[in-house]
Order: sequence, then C-alpha cells, then structure tokens
Amino acid sequence: MGQPELALSAFCPQPEVVRKQTLVERSKFPCIDAHNHISYWVTKQNDPAAIPRLLEIMDACNVRAMFDLRIESDRPIEELLDLYQPRERFYVLATIPFKQLMAESDEFGLAAARYLDEQFRRGAHGLKMYKSMGLTLRDRQGQLVHYDDDRLAPVFEVCARHNRPVLYHIADPTAFFKPLTPTNERWEELQGRPTWHFHGEPYPGFAELMEVQDRFVGKYPAVRFQSAHVCSYAENLAYVGGLLDRRANLYCDISARIGELGRVPRAAREFLIRYQDRLLFGTDVTPTAEQFGVHFRFLETDDEYFDYGTGPTPGQGRWCIYGVQLPDDVLRKIYSENARKLYGYR
Ligand SMILES: [Zn+2]
Repeated sequence: MGQPELALSAFCPQPEVVRKQTLVERSKFPCIDAHNHISYWVTKQNDPAAIPRLLEIMDACNVRAMFDLRIESDRPIEELLDLYQPRERFYVLATIPFKQLMAESDEFGLAAARYLDEQFRRGAHGLKMYKSMGLTLRDRQGQLVHYDDDRLAPVFEVCARHNRPVLYHIADPTAFFKPLTPTNERWEELQGRPTWHFHGEPYPGFAELMEVQDRFVGKYPAVRFQSAHVCSYAENLAYVGGLLDRRANLYCDISARIGELGRVPRAAREFLIRYQDRLLFGTDVTPTAEQFGVHFRFLETDDEYFDYGTGPTPGQGRWCIYGVQLPDDVLRKIYSENARKLYGYR
C-alpha cells in the first residue's frame, strides 16, 4: 500500500500546539508606519472616502502618522500633499523618474538632482529610491546603474543640502537570488511571483548588492539613510549589525520582515534592543487593523508560534513566528521617536 501523493500547494497543516493568543489592537505607544505605499493601497481608486477611512484605522490602532513612499511613476507630489489631511498625519517622499532620465541622457544624475530639488521645495519629506536601482535600471550603454555610481552623486548632494533623508531599497530576500530548486525556502512564493526571482543573468548577485550598500552609504556621510527591510538582509542580523556599526548615518526599517525577525526571536530581540536608536517601525502592507495588530503582537508580546500573515497560510515561507516582547523604552523609540528624529518632523 503506497502513500497517496499530496501536492505541496494542498498541504496546509494546522498546528495542534495550544498556545497563548494575545490580541493587540492598539500599539502600546503611538506609532508611525515609516514604510508604506498609501498611494498604492488607499488612493489608487481615487475614492474621496479613502483617507477618512484610513484615519479611522489609524486612530483605532494608535498609528500617529503614515509614510507614503508612493509607487514608481505616480502623480505630482502637490496633489498627494493636498489629499493627505491632516498634514501632520502623513509623510510624503519624493520619487525620481530614473528610467526616463537615464534613457534621455548620460547626465541623468544632474537632471535627477534638479527634479529632486524641486520636489523638496514643494514639500517632500525625503527621497525614496526603489530596488530597480542596481537591479534593472540601465544607462544608455546598457550598463546597470548602481547606487554608488558617481553619476548619482548630485542627487545625494541635494539631499544633504536640504537635510532630507533617503529611504532606499536595495535587494530582496536572499532566496530570491538563488536557483529555483526544491531547497529554495521561498519556492512556493516564487512559483506564484516569477518576477520576484532575480537569480543569474541579467541580475547582479546578492553579495554584490550588499557590497554596493556598504560602499554607497559610506560614500555620503552627510546624508542620512533609511534602508528598507532591515537593510534587505534580515536573514543575517550579524551582518546588518556590522553595517550599522560601520555606518553611523544609517538607519533601517523593519517593514515586511517580521516573518524573518520572528523566526529567530532571541537573536531578533537582541538586535532590536542593541540598535534601538537606529530602527524604524514600518509595515509595507495594506493598512488594516489586522495587519497592524500582527506587528504589535510581534513587538510587544511573548506569544509563541503564531501566523504573521492575515490570510489562510503564512505570507512568506511556511513557518510561524514568536513575539519579542520589547521593553517600553525600546518600543517608544522604534514605534515613533526614531522616525521623528530622522525626519525632523512632528
Ligand atoms: Zn515598500
């Protein structure tokens, strides 16, 4: 009698272990979601009720303010600044149409700097740079343009002059850069999202991107940087700690990485406490009460082995996570004080 075959996609084990379940509806201290794309999640339908609805969720969850990192090629910043009321509840970051500028001229950095200068004058709170830099953006000779490319220097000079931080995203989970074999821990996710797979040509390797990150943050000591997603290397907190030690102008957000942090709760707790002055809360997901609640549960409780997604199966990978129960003074900093300090704003 052979065992029946079961497709991986049909396997949906429900943990039998009985554990404590804490519902955290409001963050213990006011928080700022310093990594979100409300242009994408909330306002793309052009629904005038979207912002009041979002404010209701924010008030219910104790979210003081939200960042809008926008999406590539979206609408003028003034429109967004007008839309997001009351103003003190929102931070809007500028984006630069690099693809277009790189196609137009080899002097794209100068054009980008002029464009950015204007965005700051119009009220942008910082600059957001996407992972397309270094992964897909190419100059007119067809060469990949990396963050440390000298031609981008004028952009960072504008940030230093206006004293505005740069929130950048440089890579993705390490597994996305590995072959799609049965040992790839994100196999299931990459099956559903083939465009997230960056293994081999024409993409750079993950290690190369990490070297670029270290170099470029060091190259502009007068600019303060917020590296998205635990410096894009939440799988290796020792590495991220070393990077933060080397680069005093570097901060990072924990957005979209509670799945990584929460599967190594002891190392994560140590990291979060050690770098408590350099870390920003963020989610990078649709702002809902459930999503905020999962993040608060991770940071505030000692709950064990819980699902960090809000769907039927964990969002990324098949593991569950553990809460890190941070001390109050650390929570205060990560939830909002560091974001205020970094952006010098409210
Ligand atoms: Zn994001």
